[in-house]
Amino acid sequence: HLDRIAEVDPAVHAFLHVDTERALNAAKAVDEDVAAGRELASPLAGVPIAVKDVLTMQGATTTCGSRILEGWHPPYDATVVRKLLAAGMVILGKTNMDEFAMGSSTENSAYGVTRNPWDLDRIPGGSGGGSSAALAAFEAPLAIGTDTGGSIRQPGAVTGTVGVKPTYGTVSRYGLVAFSSSLDQAGPCARTVLDAALLHEVIAGHDPMDSTSIDAPVPPVVAAVREGQGGDLTGVRVGIVTELGGDGYQDGVLAAFHGAVEQLRALGAEIVEVSCPSFDLALPAYYLIAPSEASSNLARFDAMRYGLRTGDDSTRSAEDVMSLTREAGFGAEVKRRIMLGTYALSAGYYDAYYGSAQKVRTLITRDFAAAFDKVDVLISPTTPTTAFRIGERVDDPMAMYRADLCTIPANMAGNAALSVPCGLADGLPVGLQIMSPALQDHRGYRVAAAYE
Ligand code: GLN
Repeated sequence: HLDRIAEVDPAVHAFLHVDTERALNAAKAVDEDVAAGRELASPLAGVPIAVKDVLTMQGATTTCGSRILEGWHPPYDATVVRKLLAAGMVILGKTNMDEFAMGSSTENSAYGVTRNPWDLDRIPGGSGGGSSAALAAFEAPLAIGTDTGGSIRQPGAVTGTVGVKPTYGTVSRYGLVAFSSSLDQAGPCARTVLDAALLHEVIAGHDPMDSTSIDAPVPPVVAAVREGQGGDLTGVRVGIVTELGGDGYQDGVLAAFHGAVEQLRALGAEIVEVSCPSFDLALPAYYLIAPSEASSNLARFDAMRYGLRTGDDSTRSAEDVMSLTREAGFGAEVKRRIMLGTYALSAGYYDAYYGSAQKVRTLITRDFAAAFDKVDVLISPTTPTTAFRIGERVDDPMAMYRADLCTIPANMAGNAALSVPCGLADGLPVGLQIMSPALQDHRGYRVAAAYE
């Protein structure tokens, strides 16, 4: 994998940082365990993995794709990173991302765009474009992403890989630099559903260091994949979400999606259509809640505690240093979100914007609950279009935001969702999204494994 990175990453730019020595040492340690006949730490011991640069890891910088964290060396490992290491996995390096995970194309990274290995003129999705591109380019067999509104699933869809957003609270957020704390969730990126499930079981589990971590057993996702691989979905009720399809969706994407529906039917699944009317409001509500939480979370980048500091001389006040640093350190999209969020939270507007968005969030959760009374899983296309061209949407934030039309509802309700490849449209990958109730992640894995 290191050779492959050296060969293709100058063109793909999936990685922000590759640590050859660290990777080789970790691999050697596993080789020594094998030679000595010692029991391996996990089924994934010795398997290389790439980690999105939003998770802290000692011994390397964590930038979150931002200038404001340039040169910052975190003093501790994220729980997810700690679990990867404890499982004997070989961390290759950190992957590129939209700044602070805000974006759908990786074009908002301060360190240059990542390119889609299927077509280097196209985006690899975002915010975790680096992790998914690394898989699609065979630079890594597994990767970690984070999904606040779709940043694991949408890059998975447009790169022809598997992306999983676990149930909120089942993978620790300790050491995951916060964007929108009530939505952020780390999860597996892989090339097969089984690989994703194996990684899922390594990283999930209760963590007292995260106050939103759920103290519940890890859903049996590997067993569900084994069951699904039998290819029999008899008795499984699959709901097509009426609101996630139709106008604004690329024809080829809808054709691939309908092909997937027929395949699920052929595997024995019962297919019904389910309406979730509040999903139409998910996107606008998300763009109030996520920026609101971001404006609060990003207040910590004050030029005193982390990374960059500009205008640091005796003639300036602390306030000048703070504003000059934030001016120089944050990119345009991050500034837009801070302003949107600050506005939505301000006295006089709070009820109209943030308060309304929270009510919509409750309605979305109720729609899911009503739907899951009728069906076991819900499905939709993962994203309305295939990978768009680099530069095509940079000046049109609304067009960029629409990439997450289908993925946002699951974040709002906190339930599980994944994307699995479902064919091509005009030669580019399309994703099938499968959503499951909270803590029932295994349902989606079973259906995805049968389908795959
Ligand atoms: N594209 C969405 C946004 O820009 C989602 C990002 C994410 O999931 N991190 O906010």
